[in-house]
Amino acid sequence: MRIDIGDLSTVVLCSVPPAQANYLQRIGRAGRRDGNALNLTVANARPHDLYFFSNPKEMITGRVEPPGVFLNASAVLERQFTAFCFDRWVESGISETALPMRLGHVLNNLEPADRRKFPHNLLYFIETHRTELLDRFIELFSDSLTEDSRDHLTRFVREEESGPGSLRYRIVEELHNLKKERHSLQNKVKLLRDRIRRKEEDPAKGKNYETELDELKREKSALQKLVSLINGRDTLNFLTDEGLIPNYAFPEAGVQLRSIIYRKKQKRQEGEGGYNTWVYEYERPAASAIAELAPANHFYAGGRKVRVDQVDMNVSQVETWRICNNCSHSELIGLEPEKSSCPNCGSMLWSDEGQKRSMVRLRQVFATTSDRESRIGDDSDEREPSFYEKQLLLDFNQEHVTDAYRLDSDDVAFGFEFLSKATFREINFGEKGEFAEKVTFAGVELPRKAFGLCRHCGKVQDHNGRIKHGLTCTSRDQESDRNLIDCVYLYRDFSSEAIRILLPVTTFTGSERKHHSFLAALQLGLKRKFEGSVDHLRITDHEEPVPETSYRKKYLVLFDTVPGGTGYLKQLMRSEQPMMEVFQLALDALKACPCNEDPEKDGCYQCLYAYKNSTRMTEISRDTAMELLSSLLRQKERLVKTDTLKNVKVNVLFDSELEARFIEALRRFRGPELDVALTKEVVNGKPGYFLKIGGMAYRV
Ligand SMILES: [Zn+2]
Ligand SMILES: [Zn+2]
Ligand SMILES: [Zn+2]
Repeated sequence: MRIDIGDLSTVVLCSVPPAQANYLQRIGRAGRRDGNALNLTVANARPHDLYFFSNPKEMITGRVEPPGVFLNASAVLERQFTAFCFDRWVESGISETALPMRLGHVLNNLEPADRRKFPHNLLYFIETHRTELLDRFIELFSDSLTEDSRDHLTRFVREEESGPGSLRYRIVEELHNLKKERHSLQNKVKLLRDRIRRKEEDPAKGKNYETELDELKREKSALQKLVSLINGRDTLNFLTDEGLIPNYAFPEAGVQLRSIIYRKKQKRQEGEGGYNTWVYEYERPAASAIAELAPANHFYAGGRKVRVDQVDMNVSQVETWRICNNCSHSELIGLEPEKSSCPNCGSMLWSDEGQKRSMVRLRQVFATTSDRESRIGDDSDEREPSFYEKQLLLDFNQEHVTDAYRLDSDDVAFGFEFLSKATFREINFGEKGEFAEKVTFAGVELPRKAFGLCRHCGKVQDHNGRIKHGLTCTSRDQESDRNLIDCVYLYRDFSSEAIRILLPVTTFTGSERKHHSFLAALQLGLKRKFEGSVDHLRITDHEEPVPETSYRKKYLVLFDTVPGGTGYLKQLMRSEQPMMEVFQLALDALKACPCNEDPEKDGCYQCLYAYKNSTRMTEISRDTAMELLSSLLRQKERLVKTDTLKNVKVNVLFDSELEARFIEALRRFRGPELDVALTKEVVNGKPGYFLKIGGMAYRV
């Protein structure tokens, strides 16, 4: 949630923030006027809060990790270079009017392409100074730019590359998209103007004449204001928001919310509409917008609460995708001939109609709210915040597996591999809830409610029997639900670098504890390894079906959230050593943690708990992590290079895991009339168990 508030003297936080940096940022809103502030933090009854309740100084005086810039990340590099070109261009002595302040002028300049007008003047400058610009930029960062980065930049500015991804294309494309949008808004204004005129000229004024006319005028006024908003935008701000020049907040392109607020006039002048309207613009990073700006969700900003009620279909298309039931592969339909089975895992259900789904990539949404309703607190039917069913699906091509290592062991299936390009596709399947169609994607069967939209105008449908349309929707007067898409999912995706780690755990073991403990330990090790904040590196779970079996290999995927990757993960995979170092550092930190001295504790915030995902807190165990890490490190000499982890067999592992689970089940088995005892014993010369159930005894 983004709150835009001015001077405050007091801040009350309803929960303990995740880290010191968040804490400082939040309390820093108070006391800006005179340096005095009262800051209260409420500690809830959850482990994270309670920990800091007992050690408040750790939060208040804790070290804040400085953020870094990753020049070798392709997305960052492109922006820095574009900004560098801008600077050199301005330096070359351009005229006052060469770079219009307001976006309206820039859009008017787009066609026909005139070398004297922006952006064509800038593009012409870059074209004619290409080599010089490249050389000077590369020289500026000669000690930090890798060979790959230099190649990337060269491709980015090369003349013949005016295709997607090139500098020229990206600038022109973004501006054209906006021009298209402005055009469509202007058309709607025209349409409304005609309808208003026809209505006013119509002698037969209907019963709802006044209301309908006011509604049309209100809509027209809002759309006109949106056009002015576009025209009045600062040119450089636009380029920043679109990620064409440096934007540190979020490297992935953001999603816009346009909030329209209207209020009925108390007194109206002759010939005027009955409403006042205001429009506001907000931008959210795609990663949070997929939930925060989802259809029908509420958004809080500027002291108002608004509801997302329309998806802009001028800038988003409804796409048809096929999502595999078994693995995490998905494909946009229409690019290649359809396949009868999943090209990744071979699942025959791939071609099933049920796996074919409509998806929309959010770019821009609208919220139209009355002034009264938008006032926070005025709302009587306060809704609970929405929670969504989301999945992050990893997709990659085997050719992008560049380095892979596995343990040459019969007992433990373990390894890690570098993916130079992996696509992460996050899908929002709609609000959580029991009453929805159950669908299986990537091995997960869930009720997926999805969203409902008008195909043409993007108005959000509430499934309450009443169909909603925008006033300018072409299908407004047709009472047909054929115009609606009942079942649409939202998605976002980005490509980056990743390391896939095969865990010595299978889905059969149900061993959530091992999985989560290892995950936390990995984060601890990474933090030690990079000696600082590595917030741009995230970890997600990933499963891979094993052909001709019903079990799945469990992976952790360490990925770079900066599109294109920052080079951090590549650095970790230059041999098998750095990753083993990460594990060793994690193990050392766990062994040295003061919580070892307290027999009650199996981890604390100084070691693993700092990396918990709050809902899974109970699953994290320091001892389990230590056991896992020690066993892997003991065998580190047996780490060998391999082609891909896909071929690492887990059968052996499966046997021993199943056995372990069987023993565990026996151990837990206790009947009221049955006396069960399980003790370790040597059986047939191997370690085994002696099991006694009632009057019977077995050797296992
Ligand atoms: Zn598949
Ligand atoms: Zn419609
Ligand atoms: Zn600890």
